[in-house]
Amino acid sequence: MNFRRNLLLVFLLFVATAAVAQQTESDTTKTDTLKTKTLPSDAVVVKRVPLASGPEFSASDVLVVDTIPSSSEGLNIVLYNDNTWRFVRNRDIDVLDETVFIQDWDTTKVQPYKVELKDLPISMVIDLVDSLKSYHYPFKGRVTSKYGPRRRRIHQGTDIDLETGDPVYATFDGRVRICTYISGGYGNLVVLRHDNGLETYYAHLSEISVKPNEWVTAGQQIGKGGNTGRSTGSHLHYEIRYKGQTFDPERLIDFTTGDLRRETFLLKRTYFSPYSRFTQDFEEEIQSDEEDKKIAAEAAAVKYHIVKKGDTLGRIAINNHTTVTKLCQLNGIKKTTTLRIGQRIRVR
Ligand SMILES: [Zn+2]
Repeated sequence: MNFRRNLLLVFLLFVATAAVAQQTESDTTKTDTLKTKTLPSDAVVVKRVPLASGPEFSASDVLVVDTIPSSSEGLNIVLYNDNTWRFVRNRDIDVLDETVFIQDWDTTKVQPYKVELKDLPISMVIDLVDSLKSYHYPFKGRVTSKYGPRRRRIHQGTDIDLETGDPVYATFDGRVRICTYISGGYGNLVVLRHDNGLETYYAHLSEISVKPNEWVTAGQQIGKGGNTGRSTGSHLHYEIRYKGQTFDPERLIDFTTGDLRRETFLLKRTYFSPYSRFTQDFEEEIQSDEEDKKIAAEAAAVKYHIVKKGDTLGRIAINNHTTVTKLCQLNGIKKTTTLRIGQRIRVR
């Protein structure tokens, strides 16, 4: 065994242990925080701190020299032949919410979801990055066409100017769902699904360098920009979708700086409209901050009572300064419904 290599391993394990220790501290319920969820009762409005893009790499440029387990069983340390290393999820055991990659998983149908807009929650919290802080811009450049109505058509994404052959990167960790060619439309298209439930679309590519079902990490090159399909001039047509519904990608990404605008995103159902655009307009931002606070406050005000022996709806109502009618409305029950001991009744 090579002494230098051993030394490197010891060093890497030390770094990994320190990183993982730090991570567990700030992120005790890892699997929980990474899922899409409705606002929890103890939700705090998250500060909007932009996150700079992480490292990029092209799988064809580097060779894996070694894979070492870290002290966190969901993470491996992968060493490359260019003397770089990175944490890589062990996808055999670290699928954060495995239903994300099972439900409506279709490698042939571009839009496999059958969820209607009205069936989506009014708002949901989406963790864009996890403790690995895995984010990379798809392409950094000038926005040439924004999301929203464009002449007679609706533009479902953001267009970013590029030269044919420029590298295009995976935005977050995830899995390749679609690699296809759609003439008269997307052209060469890659669709990735991410752990947070979002899907990102990369269209008009000149080359695709990934395959369906392959796991990708943020910053991995998935292809090259181009001018295929219904496109005039080389550009990246980029979409972000949740359950098949589009919203303005500029809500999340500043394509000029390449930064992620926020790490946690309150996705509202009203955003799924071509007329709902991200804007730098100060007043609107304040308004949306106010809205975030209002929603967080509403969610925080939700209160439950666990039914004990001898409880009746009338008694629960009096003890919680409310009425039986209100309790019935909140819980979808009737005045005559029999309460079970241990049953959770929403009182506010
Ligand atoms: Zn476009």
